[in-house]
Amino acid sequence: MQLQNSPVQRVCFEGRTFYLKRDDLLHPIFGGNKARKLYYFFTASLPIKQVVSYGSLQSNAMCAIAALAKMRGWKFLYYARINQKLLQNPRGNLACALAYGMELKDIAQMPESDRRSILSETRIEKGCLFIPEGARCQEARVGVARLAQEIKRWAIRRDIVVFLPSGTGTTALFLQKELQRSGIVVMTTPCVGDRQYLKEQFFTLEPDERFHPTIIDPPKRYRFAKLYPELFSLWQRLAKETGVVFDLLYDPIGFAALLHHDLLAQNLLYIHQGGVLGSVTMEERYKKKFATIS
Ligand SMILES: *Cc1c(COP(=O)(O)O)cnc(C)c1O
Repeated sequence: MQLQNSPVQRVCFEGRTFYLKRDDLLHPIFGGNKARKLYYFFTASLPIKQVVSYGSLQSNAMCAIAALAKMRGWKFLYYARINQKLLQNPRGNLACALAYGMELKDIAQMPESDRRSILSETRIEKGCLFIPEGARCQEARVGVARLAQEIKRWAIRRDIVVFLPSGTGTTALFLQKELQRSGIVVMTTPCVGDRQYLKEQFFTLEPDERFHPTIIDPPKRYRFAKLYPELFSLWQRLAKETGVVFDLLYDPIGFAALLHHDLLAQNLLYIHQGGVLGSVTMEERYKKKFATIS
């Protein structure tokens, strides 16, 4: 399986044209930035029988790891705070990960030894691969470097700025590191925590600030995964005008920031990082909370 050369298209939104790299279309079940971040484990020959990770029950990383484990014939054990209601009627990422054979355990059952292994970095121990929440790891660099290669090849003779919204900031950081020498600027906006938090995340992966992406602030502080009618409306307008379905956690904040700073323009390459399966449950939450939204 190739896992490369996701298409780039020109799109128009609110009268502005920009480029969109469809990394969400990288692979039918293993796309988006989690696939880039996990690429190393997708190809490397490693003595692994089982993967262990933890995080939320709706996480895009969970679903990507489940797909990875399925394709590689590994078992997958995932620790989360169990929500019986979600489990009775699994949707989106959870339904997908369970279909790929993920085994779920309550976080309270996680042995102390695993807890230590899992929190900070990836580790292989007795045939077991531990992946930190959100796949924040050094190995992500391998797959993100391939994304950078594709961007460089595409951007020849174009003066471009790359933009992508950040969670842990791993993707943006490694992208900027790889594109630095080509003089390509990577911009991002924090969707989890604020500018300060994101900066700290960058420092844990790269002490040299020259390789850090440029951070732009969203128009206001959005709390991660909280519901904001204006973000939902932006997400709906994006789908309608561009014909592309975006993720509902990160992308609306990304576009809100771009519009706020008036950065949507010809020279912008926006990276669609997938996560659309996670939008299913977000959309349900929006419609339930704001009954007037259709
Ligand atoms: C995980 C994810 C992000 C954030 O990626 P980081 O590398 O943690 O910054 C952004 N968008 C989507 C759709 C994601 O699934």
